[in-house]
Amino acid sequence: MRRRRTRAILLATILVPTAAAIGPAAAASRTTVLASFFPLAEAAREIGGRPVSVGNLTPPGVEPHDLELTTDDRDAIEDADLVLVLGEGFQPAIERAADDRDGPTLELLGAIGIRRSAAERDPHVWLDPVLMQRVVDAIERALIKADPVKREAFAARAAAYRSELASLDEAFRAGLADCDRRLLVTAHEAFGWLARRYSLREEGVAGIDPESEPDPARIAELADLVEARGVTTIFTEDLVSPKVAETLAREAGGLRTEVLSPLEGLTDEQRDRGDGYVAVMTENRTKLRAALGCR
Ligand SMILES: [Zn+2]
Repeated sequence: MRRRRTRAILLATILVPTAAAIGPAAAASRTTVLASFFPLAEAAREIGGRPVSVGNLTPPGVEPHDLELTTDDRDAIEDADLVLVLGEGFQPAIERAADDRDGPTLELLGAIGIRRSAAERDPHVWLDPVLMQRVVDAIERALIKADPVKREAFAARAAAYRSELASLDEAFRAGLADCDRRLLVTAHEAFGWLARRYSLREEGVAGIDPESEPDPARIAELADLVEARGVTTIFTEDLVSPKVAETLAREAGGLRTEVLSPLEGLTDEQRDRGDGYVAVMTENRTKLRAALGCR
């Protein structure tokens, strides 16, 4: 790895005069950021703009929990100017590789002051638009440190993105204020931080890890709760099989299921439409309002 890098530096040294002769060759001076999954990559792109090249280690359509790495991924982690990970074991293979690299790595959960016990209980902080603004603050600081000359541009872009997130928070607050129900039943327990922010309660069929097997006793318990509270909708999600949520919906007497996105990645359809965090969260808000009977 080290030898490969030395060779790359030598090559770059040799090639510089040629590249300079061809044109501005701005690509060579772009800061490279490697994010471990979608929300961090989007924030880095929004804040960095053109001078920053952002990669995402979680491939499209793949669920990021416990992602395994390829050899190319490991090389990319070693070579990036800045690596962004959520931390606290959300993606252990990526976090281990990031620990071994020489360059800086930003662990977002720690950087925004989430205690380890809270992070282990629920790592999905990005689904709370207020905490997402703290994520933006931390990435802004790290980008400025990586390329201080662009401080003003990064700060302006970060402020613009934060204000979009603040409007989103306002829309959630207003839209979920007056509802018939406050119980949210989801396939995988990803919406704890969002629920806390807007005074909802979440019950997940599976746990924090979407691959964990649901327990029949848990399904029976939830079927009772759902009936008692008049729940109309069981939420499933796009990157995980809806089987479990469908089983509960059936057992609870034919409730509807609806897809709520935990924003762990975008579907092909969302990407084709050019949707990002704010657009998908806005769609989530509409579905929540319908399911909870909000006015
Ligand atoms: Zn998750």
